[in-house]
Amino acid sequence: MNKKQKKVLFRIILSAVLTAVICFIPVRGIYSFALFMIPYLIIGHDILRKAGKGILRRQIFDENFLMAIATIGALVIALTETGDYLEAVAVMLFYQVGEFFQSIAVGKSRRNIYALMDIRPDYANIEKDGTLIQVSPDEVAVGDIIVVQPGEKVPLDGVSVEGHASLNTAPLTGESLPREVQEGDSIISGAIDLNGVLKIKTTKCFEESTVSKILDLVENASSRKSRPEAFITKFAAVYTPVVCLAALALAVLPPLVCLMMGTDALWNVWCYRALSFLVISCPCALVISIPLSFFAGIGGASHAGILIKGSNFLEALSKVDAVVLDKTGTLTKGVFEVTDIHHNTLHPDKLLELAALTESASSHPIAKSIVAAYGKDINRSRVTDITEYSGGGITATVDGKSVAVGNDKLMAQTDISIPACNCAGTIIHIAIDGKYAGHLVISDRPKDTAAASIAGLKKSGVNHIVMLTGDNHVAAANVATAVGIDSYHASLLPADKVEKVEQLITAGHRVAFVGDGINDAPVLSRADIGIAMGAMGSDAAIEAADVVLMDDDPEKLVTALRISKKCLRIVYQNIVFALGIKILCLILGAVGITGMWAAIFADVGVMVVAVLNALRTLWIN
Ligand code: ADP
Ligand code: MG
Repeated sequence: MNKKQKKVLFRIILSAVLTAVICFIPVRGIYSFALFMIPYLIIGHDILRKAGKGILRRQIFDENFLMAIATIGALVIALTETGDYLEAVAVMLFYQVGEFFQSIAVGKSRRNIYALMDIRPDYANIEKDGTLIQVSPDEVAVGDIIVVQPGEKVPLDGVSVEGHASLNTAPLTGESLPREVQEGDSIISGAIDLNGVLKIKTTKCFEESTVSKILDLVENASSRKSRPEAFITKFAAVYTPVVCLAALALAVLPPLVCLMMGTDALWNVWCYRALSFLVISCPCALVISIPLSFFAGIGGASHAGILIKGSNFLEALSKVDAVVLDKTGTLTKGVFEVTDIHHNTLHPDKLLELAALTESASSHPIAKSIVAAYGKDINRSRVTDITEYSGGGITATVDGKSVAVGNDKLMAQTDISIPACNCAGTIIHIAIDGKYAGHLVISDRPKDTAAASIAGLKKSGVNHIVMLTGDNHVAAANVATAVGIDSYHASLLPADKVEKVEQLITAGHRVAFVGDGINDAPVLSRADIGIAMGAMGSDAAIEAADVVLMDDDPEKLVTALRISKKCLRIVYQNIVFALGIKILCLILGAVGITGMWAAIFADVGVMVVAVLNALRTLWIN
């Protein structure tokens, strides 16, 4: 509870106690009025002031206005007729109880989201003349060496150059097992060092580091509105004036009709009914609970390591019925091993060396594993004219020779004929100066959870699951069978992938594309919803995707779908429930069956139930 909330709580208790005491004081008329005004003003002065301000600013119709008019009206009726002041005080009191409760609930879900903000590092340690000095993370340049000690957050992305430690990446990825890192491992900012001292050579400036990107994302997520939210905003703008007019009509028309028919006008009865009508009609339950549900859904998802960039994407996710997955890095580990070197005209080591040099600048998983298989230091000055062909491979000039490394498509571009090879795996051909020089056979394995997540997707009602890959048919078929996907397309260029996704969209499917962000940024943005895997590696992914799965685990996909579905279900439950109760109370109030007491109970009750229901989205897993 913050200071403001404590103050409100104090006012609630004070005025409740005072009201209870005053009820037992045997005074009447104007004295009773004066006494009841004390708790009324204690609890309601801010509402009255806000209503007054609203009128001055010509933004009249909000819930403060409704409450002020209703209670003042009730006081006037009490003063002139019934002498029952308790009702006006109670209405104000319950309204404040509801508001108080709601501010606690909103605060709770905000805190849950901002717990994620806790990943923001405050400083970076730099070693100078044997002592550590603390500097602001944005002062650290790319390539600087920073020191991270046990208990500290890693402030910038980089590569470990000395020491080993366990890192807690749970705030980033939702992964509860600590990650062991050693020299040479890449390290993401935001992780917490649990034990060892690490020296890290930074690879990105603070602004480009993972932690900054995530914070940006979360901060902007709530500004993207879903359709139910946009609906409610518009709804409230029309609804309140309409309700006020209806209340006015209820207060004036029936008495006039009575007058015309020559019977008693009963002005006070109809005015009272009109006032309860106003109290009931307050739309706060909806206005509050719907954004809160989405907010909580996004918060709950980020706890599970799933970043959703806005409520609109949460909504889109819930409607997905076709999932298209990329193969390399998404369903497979993206860590290739060079298993064979064939048909080579050069010494295998020489062939590998040329391939590694050509691939030295690429961030493609294939490139990384060829460089890793070579294992020796790479003198980059030997490589020039590097060109990467997405979904094909790389050409470059190495030691003055033109080298092409890639698949059959790349070879076909330069009319190099390739020998048949029936090995199971991905085949990377190498040509030197336009002549075929041999190929590397590399293989990748499906991720451990890939099969389980495809099964999970099928179970959750996604009936179209398609794998797309730029790799050859043999490799594609192997992976598809291993993970349980029936439909796949191989040998695709990035543009072909877009086309496949477009075909599904025009066939009326709601398509989610899941990729690792390497070579597939165009598809990520074309699909109804783009989901990026392994965002830790690729900036393009964080930018192009609508949803980011923080660790590479495809099973998070199933979790994300479940969260979105549950969140939307809760939103619709709240809309139906709140509107249903409101309409019922409005009718009962208009015909005089329920009074203001019932009205305020209904209002606060509906709001409390709706807010509690909304908060359930925080705890879906
Ligand atoms: P996927 O669709 O499975 O994610 P990509 O579209 O990234 O695969 O790549 C498709 C194919 O293009 C790879 O299987 C490989 O044959 C070739 N390729 C892409 N990039 C490279 C590279 N850097 N070096 C060699 N081959 C590459
Ligand atoms: Mg890929």
